[in-house]
Amino acid sequence: MCQSLRMVTLLVRLVASRVLRAGAAIAFAAAVSFASPAHASHRMLVVSIDGLRPDVAMRADMPALRSLMQRGSFTFFCATTDTAVTLPSHFSMFTGVPPEKHGITYNADPKAGDALRPQWPTLFALAHRAGLSTAMSAGKSKFSVLVDTLNLDWNFVPPAGTHSVDSLVASAAVEIIRSHRPQLLFVHLPSVDVTGHAKGWGSPEQIREASGADRAMGRVLRALQKAGLIDSTRIIVSSDHGGAALGHGGLDARSHFIPWILAGPGVRQNYDLTRVPGLRVRTEDTFATSAAWLGVPIEKPVDGRAVTEAEDSTSTSR
Ligand SMILES: [Zn+2]
Repeated sequence: MCQSLRMVTLLVRLVASRVLRAGAAIAFAAAVSFASPAHASHRMLVVSIDGLRPDVAMRADMPALRSLMQRGSFTFFCATTDTAVTLPSHFSMFTGVPPEKHGITYNADPKAGDALRPQWPTLFALAHRAGLSTAMSAGKSKFSVLVDTLNLDWNFVPPAGTHSVDSLVASAAVEIIRSHRPQLLFVHLPSVDVTGHAKGWGSPEQIREASGADRAMGRVLRALQKAGLIDSTRIIVSSDHGGAALGHGGLDARSHFIPWILAGPGVRQNYDLTRVPGLRVRTEDTFATSAAWLGVPIEKPVDGRAVTEAEDSTSTSR
């Protein structure tokens, strides 16, 4: 093991143990299998770069994102939820329905009176019930609302009231991949949003941060490669909202549109989904597209749909 990798491993372990002692949300539990999944060999990685407005991605140096576009199908006109804020939008990404249905309408660490469970099953819950292992590395403590539902086998979430940085979230994800090889992994990179609130959407500081998010994502992709999992993993890279000035929210186009990139086995390569007449990809489609690839049954009707237009009809990898 090279020196830098040893240091990263040590860092993740140190952070994990510190947070564990603090009683916060890091768990490394054994995977529980209830049934044979429909597609046992299929894996899914969902990366959300918080607050990534599409034109910010265009201006930043993001070789990992661009290589996924080359390897996959994409649109920069994916619609997020009408509220365009972090936690409700991510739950729409995970449940396939808008916030008025899933019920996670708050955007902070859950407090007394907040719904702790969504009204629709999450992708994690359905995957788990189908016998797949699930994991999350998230950069904001509000994601702890997902941890206590027993649907995550491994997770990294910073202590209550805090956020992490992209490099640390990536280190935790790399460690989870290396040690546990989860079949469904969600990675949430917080720093583009944090810098947007501090310095502004489209600011030079945020452009630099988007490049940093790409380096973090690149490390996660290399970990999949090193673990021999890249050829069985479909990857979605998306976001929860954009922003303007120092904030975001609502239907303003600058908040409402997000990137959506799908790459991996059986996906049509270098294909702009805006070429498909009438196709509107929305964040709820991340749920349905992931569920279809993993072969997990959808228990309750959803609004999202699998983006089948991204399937390579000549491929045998489906
Ligand atoms: Zn956000």
